[in-house]
Amino acid sequence: RLAANRAATQDDCYTADGKRIEVVANLGGPADVAVALESGAEGCGLMRSEFLFLNRTSAPSEDEQYAQYQAIADGLKGRPLIIRTLDAGADKDVPYANLPKEENPALGLRGVRMSLWQPELLRTQIRAILRVKPYGQCKILLPMIATLADLRDVRRVIDEEMKALARTAPIEVGIMVEVPSAALISKTLAAEADFLSVGTNDLAQYTLAIDRVNPRLAKQLDPFHPAVLRLIQLAVEGAKAHGRWVGVCGSLASFPLAAPVLIGLGVTELSATSGSIAEIKAMVRTLDIDKCKAVAEAALALESGEAVRRMLAQSWPEV
Ligand code: PEP
Ligand code: MG
Repeated sequence: RLAANRAATQDDCYTADGKRIEVVANLGGPADVAVALESGAEGCGLMRSEFLFLNRTSAPSEDEQYAQYQAIADGLKGRPLIIRTLDAGADKDVPYANLPKEENPALGLRGVRMSLWQPELLRTQIRAILRVKPYGQCKILLPMIATLADLRDVRRVIDEEMKALARTAPIEVGIMVEVPSAALISKTLAAEADFLSVGTNDLAQYTLAIDRVNPRLAKQLDPFHPAVLRLIQLAVEGAKAHGRWVGVCGSLASFPLAAPVLIGLGVTELSATSGSIAEIKAMVRTLDIDKCKAVAEAALALESGEAVRRMLAQSWPEV
């Protein structure tokens, strides 16, 4: 039984037949690190940097940000740390950014669009991240990438700030796949991104055209929906063409039952809430790749998210 197998350890996680799957945590700040490690996280797959920017009247300075990022890196004791650049806009308001009032903010200036519209905030944040040592521990993740131009525009800023800091050690830059276009052109994007991380919360929102903050539609906003799974499959195919890895950091990754499907689709990193990590690792250790592929194939052919959940619950009644 999974429950008997749930003791949290930071040991690397492998499927029963030996495929390495990284199981890492989503963090909001330095205060979350200890719990993540106690829960068995092998590092951080998504540091939502918003926490530093929300509920204040001015932007945090470069030094202030650097101190927080370095504290997280130190707390993780050399384990990987993926910091996502500020994902403001839409439901995450940053008053001092003076965002224009928008009719449809979820389709407006958010994520990297807001960053590129107000590049000073982005530059300051990039400099703070580039200073984190040891070089190589910390990677950058870009939210709301929809086109190749988005990625190139932010890359240019990163390159300029690297030069300004005389930093020569490369830093890995990955993109969130949370807009359907990013999944559809993943091969093009993967040529210039070091890794891909699927944000299933927004990917489900934009794929199913269901506002993620609308309580009346919350039940239909299902990341298990085959349409969302199909886009994850496309993202993996595009990434593989360039030898890039794909993780999932949206809420789908926090369901132990999603692990067989995601691993079957070719995902090799699961970034989840600390509370779900021990159970996910226990689940992964029981799986084998051929079974996962068959499960993923079956899920893609089902008629609804509900049907996918039912099939998974029947196959793993103990979860
Ligand atoms: C997502 O969209 O799935 C995601 C991980 O980002 P956030 O929930 O912070 O928008
Ligand atoms: Mg998102």
